[in-house]
Amino acid sequence: MGKAKRWGFATRAIHDGEEPNLRDGGYGDVVSPIHLASTFARRLVDEPTSGLEYSRSGNPTRHALERRIASLEGAEHGLAFSSGLGAETTVLLSLKQGDHVVSNDDLYGGTHRLFRVFENFGIEFSSVDASDPRRFEEALTDSTRLVWLESPTNPMLKLCDIGAISKLARAKEIPTLVDNTFASPVLQQPLALGATLVLHSSTKYLGGHSDVIGGAIATSDESWYQRLKFLQNAAGAVPGPFDCFMVLRGTKTLQVRMERHCSNAMAVANMLEGHPKVERVYYPGLESHPQLELARQQMVDYGGLVSCELRGGLEASRKFLEGLKLFALAESLGGVESLAEHPALMTHASLPQEQREALGISDGLIRLSVGIEDQEDILSDLEQALSRV
Ligand SMILES: *Cc1c(COP(=O)(O)O)cnc(C)c1O
Repeated sequence: MGKAKRWGFATRAIHDGEEPNLRDGGYGDVVSPIHLASTFARRLVDEPTSGLEYSRSGNPTRHALERRIASLEGAEHGLAFSSGLGAETTVLLSLKQGDHVVSNDDLYGGTHRLFRVFENFGIEFSSVDASDPRRFEEALTDSTRLVWLESPTNPMLKLCDIGAISKLARAKEIPTLVDNTFASPVLQQPLALGATLVLHSSTKYLGGHSDVIGGAIATSDESWYQRLKFLQNAAGAVPGPFDCFMVLRGTKTLQVRMERHCSNAMAVANMLEGHPKVERVYYPGLESHPQLELARQQMVDYGGLVSCELRGGLEASRKFLEGLKLFALAESLGGVESLAEHPALMTHASLPQEQREALGISDGLIRLSVGIEDQEDILSDLEQALSRV
């Protein structure tokens, strides 16, 4: 690990966690084998073989993925989970009745729903508009135990100033968690910016092929790691070995995929911005984005998601979405294939209408997860669908 840390990101994404075992008895596998065993035999009663007992508490394929996750986020430790929400649940289980969590106000819909579940157990949640970091200072109370950020956000692609907000929280000894799903560790390194915990839905860019559900957490804070590792085993939201293998395989191409996602998304954002049927485009790399300066500071590039508001509301967005031929009309994001969705009717349908409106999620809003197909094909599909509106 010490030596590996000096390697560049793309090299670590291929090798860390999967070093071939060339010792006696090892087979030198170049990729991690899928260790399906649920339990591990030992010779002596009090000496688990290689520290392994039972696959909920630890599994070699999962450990390979956990080392990979740590390496990608520049962390000491990584933990893998059965889904992004499984990872989130495990973090929230570290809290107790009366504890308070502050987040930005436009969270992933499933995270918002999970917070409502934990309210039943006496944990308090409040949210603030993150465009001004000082609002967090006002929102922190004596009971605040965690600041929870998502950046860029879903689907409005607003940014949180991760450095400034974690600094404010740290001054009061409050840890900051960043859901880094949208940016991926290629574009944004929250721990280096001052966060304590970084979380992923590995279903999205880490897996990258829309064929696995998974979650991940990375941290360099030893006491958080021990607490979360205990809870990972205690609560049991662990991924199976096959799923771990799929995410490991996905991460090897993360950097080249992200480069292409970003260049395609930038081209889509520019095309849409000049289009007469489009009212407004949301993309952190556009001059028209109010936080372009912050995006330049804390991100390497601007990501694969583009949202836009069509003129003509629901009827226009229906015609557009149902007219797409290459883009699949589907929820989720971060896979190699391009996807389009309607937040008000799909991913964010569970939010009350007033709240959707307050966040800017109108009936004309479309979210695109721009894939890595040929740029001409992506642009011409969008153009032909817009011509139907
Ligand atoms: C998808 C997603 C999640 C939830 O992850 P699952 O793997 O679907 O459980 C959490 N946060 C963000 C930003 C997401 O996009």
